[in-house]
Amino acid sequence: MTSDNAAATASAAYRSALEVIESVEPRIAAATRAELADQRASLKLIASENYASPAVLLTMSSFLSDKYAEGTIGHRFYAGCQNVDTVEAVAAEHARELFDAPYAYVQPHSGIDANLVAFWAILATRIEAPTLAATGAKGVNDLSEDDWEQLRARFGQQRLLGMSLDAGGHLTHGFRPNISGKMFHQRSYGTDPETGLLDYGRVAAAAREFKPLILIAGYSAYPRRVDFATMREIADEVGATLMVDMAHFAGLVAGKVFTGDEDPVPHAHVVTTTTHKSLRGPRGGLVLATEEYSEAVDKGCPMVLGGPLSHVMAAKAVALAEARRPEFQTYAADVASNAQSLAEGFLKRDARLVTGGTDNHLVLLDVSGFGLTGRQAESALLDAGVVTNRNSIPRDPHGAWYTSGIRLGTPALTTRGFGHDEFDTVAELIVDVLSDTKADTAKSGSPSKVKATTAAGVGERVRSAAAELLDAHPLYPGLELS
Ligand SMILES: *Cc1c(COP(=O)(O)O)cnc(C)c1O
Repeated sequence: MTSDNAAATASAAYRSALEVIESVEPRIAAATRAELADQRASLKLIASENYASPAVLLTMSSFLSDKYAEGTIGHRFYAGCQNVDTVEAVAAEHARELFDAPYAYVQPHSGIDANLVAFWAILATRIEAPTLAATGAKGVNDLSEDDWEQLRARFGQQRLLGMSLDAGGHLTHGFRPNISGKMFHQRSYGTDPETGLLDYGRVAAAAREFKPLILIAGYSAYPRRVDFATMREIADEVGATLMVDMAHFAGLVAGKVFTGDEDPVPHAHVVTTTTHKSLRGPRGGLVLATEEYSEAVDKGCPMVLGGPLSHVMAAKAVALAEARRPEFQTYAADVASNAQSLAEGFLKRDARLVTGGTDNHLVLLDVSGFGLTGRQAESALLDAGVVTNRNSIPRDPHGAWYTSGIRLGTPALTTRGFGHDEFDTVAELIVDVLSDTKADTAKSGSPSKVKATTAAGVGERVRSAAAELLDAHPLYPGLELS
């Protein structure tokens, strides 16, 4: 199909689907139409979002959703799973080939689920299996009550070392309020307070002192690449399992921007990811593992997860097939070079970036120089039509709620075809808004952390400049819902 034909066919498919939905609940059809209009009209810089292809999106509205398929390929708890078996096998095959991984598990419903599956698989492999072997029991049901209680106690004694939230880690990497911080004794490693960069010497020192069962690498808001070969050396030295959560940057791994020591797959024991961020697939998760952990990962459902979302696994297969094409490598290279352009655009306008720049898909703008909190900057930008999210920065004086940073990513707008010049303009527009926004005075007389006012006219000017960029790079070109 030519791209014009493909757009016409997708338009017809969406129009028909919306007509069917409209006849049952018109408000849902209307919200669906409105969402496309909103996505088209917004300058989306949220680093964790993207736009999946119509092929990926259409795959999700299918009859596969109607099937229960707990278990694994060929070993289901329900009859009649032959088509789900095909879907899961094709998705897993694409994932193995794309990432050059020995084993792939495509059932997790989200990134957090993928991490829970990985935690469970590591505990099962390293704690439960040796206990069963030592007692001669076939499964946990064969353990004596004493042995069972001892095993349960050992589960509770395990240690997790991950990147701290304010250095850019994720809340599932041992943040206390999250279940990961409650399941495990947790400690975190941060970044160098001066440079904002990961300091492998400090990670190694923390690992030697704490001796974790699991060392997690990966991040949601760190604007730099990670040396996974060094992380693996640290893990090996202290007998830890290296788990890498590549939820944010899986697209850069798939697109061969991160290779060698920067590719987590050959170095980690277990790799988890989302499929909807830079990988540009449906909303979901994925686990890759070495042979050693594959058997336990494969039991993710029903041990950790409910029945697989077979329609989403099908969409993962389609997205992974897209990611294996040469065009995806071009896309991934553009995501990274556009982040460079965005960073340069800020630096030449004297804005401060955490770590002084980027070499992945995101930049972390420190807005304290504008006299604003992240929360004020986020809402001033939103009022001007620029969608971002606030994010804490290392040693953030305003904490995790108000914050002092704005996280910006290039995956979504790169999908729309933005390049160097467009991202330079994006930096200019953001600096314009923030320079012309002043914190309001709170009741106490000190500057408010929440409210700020942007000078009259700036919002409109930025909005129309953004609209011009967006019009020149349409989202889903040729797709018409009416
Ligand atoms: C986004 C993210 C997750 C969570 O993904 P969900 O699909 O929202 O559950 C987990 N880990 C990291 C590092 C992430 O960035």
